[in-house]
Amino acid sequence: MPRLPGIRRFRPGQGCGVATRPFGIRTLIIQNGPAVSPFAHAARPAGRPAARKLAGVDPVWALRQIAFQLERSGAPTYRVRAFRRAAEVVAGLSPAELDGRVRAGTLRQLPGIGEATAQVITQAAAGQEPEYLTRLLGGGAPASPTALRAAMRGDCHTHSDWSDGGSPPLEMAVAARDLGHEWVALTDHSPRLTVANGLSADRLRAQLELITELNVTLAPFRILSGIEVDILEDGSLDQTDELLGQLNVVVASVHSQLRMPSAPMTARMIAAIRNPHTDVLGHCTGRLIAGRGRPPSEFDAAAVFTACRDHGVAVEVNCRPERQDPPDDLLRLAVEIGCLFAVDTDAHAPGQLDWLDGGCARAEQFGIGQDRVINTRGTPAAGVN
Ligand SMILES: [Zn+2]
Ligand SMILES: [Zn+2]
Repeated sequence: MPRLPGIRRFRPGQGCGVATRPFGIRTLIIQNGPAVSPFAHAARPAGRPAARKLAGVDPVWALRQIAFQLERSGAPTYRVRAFRRAAEVVAGLSPAELDGRVRAGTLRQLPGIGEATAQVITQAAAGQEPEYLTRLLGGGAPASPTALRAAMRGDCHTHSDWSDGGSPPLEMAVAARDLGHEWVALTDHSPRLTVANGLSADRLRAQLELITELNVTLAPFRILSGIEVDILEDGSLDQTDELLGQLNVVVASVHSQLRMPSAPMTARMIAAIRNPHTDVLGHCTGRLIAGRGRPPSEFDAAAVFTACRDHGVAVEVNCRPERQDPPDDLLRLAVEIGCLFAVDTDAHAPGQLDWLDGGCARAEQFGIGQDRVINTRGTPAAGVN
């Protein structure tokens, strides 16, 4: 019987909700009952997060919805930035100034407001669903969430603009909350991934302080502290033990030397899986199936997944359309071996948080039930920050 991740981080005899350290994804384990999200995402039409009933009320909301839908469709950050920037500008206006500028047609005199965003604001202020948003939402009937998607309470792998994401942590958290999540793990990159602006130990400490502050505001929703830590060539992790020990969620991923031969790659991955801080093995093959593509790394998958099972490390089902990692044959193997899974969006923008739908559908195709997916778990209601 595989050990559930997180058990090891709870003191026996102290009951639910008491962790040996303040954090740990194992905090997700203890309310593993029916999902009772206060945000009731099960009622949300898939693909249209909390959409039309609010349309036409708030220009800021409309601009952010457009950004969300663009991100969800995989649009590059530069295409989305104008809408998020415009939302910030409008949010800073008094209702009187906004009304005056809409009437006078002077919105475009504001820095950050262009023709498209001015039209969205004007239509929203007039009580209409902006045409731009209508086009993005499309006219088809939304699909119902799958059983696994309906049971999801959070996301273990996301990025903010502290590393290579496009939005600040608060914006990511609010989008996650609006999707019905109870929690989201913020897992920005580690120091040696300089191309992704990985966080130094000092920057990670500063981010932990920010998360503590944001969680006061966002409660009962919670941002779990975390990291997507590089698995270095020798299998060690690219952050200090002391800091890794403070985090709720440690996703360990290979980002370098992806082409090393199978034997040393297997040893490298297993060393990372055995690290007591590792919670999730991120995108295990590193393959890319879009654009120029990248072949999967070679390793002894049976040995790696067995180590995951035996060390309570969840195998990530990465939702990113260009990754879909692990590939089918390896996902089937991980299921057979008896692994736990984390269905993760690896979102780099708020709208990408909605990619959970695709990952859940894929997991269900492989017979992965709710009991094997750590995202279906809740966080302790109290006593943990
Ligand atoms: Zn990664
Ligand atoms: Zn990532």
